[in-house]
Amino acid sequence: MIKYLDLKSITAMHGEEISQAVQRVAASGRYLLGKEVKHFEREFAGYIGSPHCIACSNGLDALSLILRAYKELGMMTDGDEVIVPANTYIASILSITDNALRPVLVEPDIHTMQIDDSLIENAITPRTRAIMLVHLYGNCAFTDRIEQIAKNHNLKIIEDNAQAHGCRFAGSSSAPRRTGSLGDAAAHSFYPGKNLGALGDAGAVTTADEALATTIRAIANYGSSKKYVFDFCGRNCRMDEVQAAVLGVKLKYLDADNARRGDIASRLMLEISNPRITVPSPRFWNSSVWHIFPVLCPDRNELQHFLAQNGIETIIHYPIPPHRQRCYASCSAESSPLKLPPCGLPVTERIHAEELSLPCNQAMTDDDVTRLIATLNDF
Ligand SMILES: *Cc1c(COP(=O)(O)O)cnc(C)c1O
Repeated sequence: MIKYLDLKSITAMHGEEISQAVQRVAASGRYLLGKEVKHFEREFAGYIGSPHCIACSNGLDALSLILRAYKELGMMTDGDEVIVPANTYIASILSITDNALRPVLVEPDIHTMQIDDSLIENAITPRTRAIMLVHLYGNCAFTDRIEQIAKNHNLKIIEDNAQAHGCRFAGSSSAPRRTGSLGDAAAHSFYPGKNLGALGDAGAVTTADEALATTIRAIANYGSSKKYVFDFCGRNCRMDEVQAAVLGVKLKYLDADNARRGDIASRLMLEISNPRITVPSPRFWNSSVWHIFPVLCPDRNELQHFLAQNGIETIIHYPIPPHRQRCYASCSAESSPLKLPPCGLPVTERIHAEELSLPCNQAMTDDDVTRLIATLNDF
């Protein structure tokens, strides 16, 4: 049996060190707002290459905090628009509607599966304030063209880096930089299944904007920067000490884990030769950290069933696109919370109908990979 993602094995790879970290916190008597969180914030900021890191409760809160802070700082107001890829996990879009802002959905490019940068300018209106880039599946969504568009139109770039810890962007003008340091602010998720995963919920914001960082830190702590003094009607979005200690251990192994994912992905791209299955092209995926290895297959459900019968677990990311979810059911109406392009979202629809995620992670052996490839080529 090849599991899609065997979290028990992944934790066990550094089990002793993780247990020691948990026990250190348990014995310390300090469970929130302590030195473990401070230490992790410093390490993660350094890793990403960003001056500030605010650890928080989860990835959705990280995204929401960024937008909320821009509102508090007077840079956005109710009804302003945020451009976002139409094919993303629902959390990206929830963070926008949660702040009474309007998501403007833009189609992805079928080759990269990232937002199509040639369609962004058409989606800009006088109300547009930001482009939310989602580095989906671990591939980089940032481009030189997007940077230029944001500059020309005075838009913030917010990165949803939930799936791409460790991914690097090599632009035409500068040395490679990590996703999470490319825009004005970035949200990270440490959900257990992410490339850098905690033993529960956790997230972070990284930014070079000091005012934004200070505001986010206050909002995430009841709106307070000084005990019992409240500048904002804040929330409780803190990361706890146990998660910070665990993440501090796992961060040391992230590059090695991503490299292993990269080796497996290279084999999958090279050796899967079934004409019914479209694999990512190395040309468009060379920066990916392979949070997800997505293939497209018109007979996706049949393929998933065939693999399951052969003891291979797969997942669909994601079966229903956000604009077809019941929570945004009014999306064709004038009053809709979502703004869709007039010609609909055929590329998004295709990805959601045909995508299947193959196992691709450091818990797999070389034999697992060989068997996965052979089974796919038998389909
Ligand atoms: C996981 C994920 C989130 C949300 O992160 P949580 O920590 O689960 O709240 C946001 N965006 C994307 C693209 C994700 O994959």
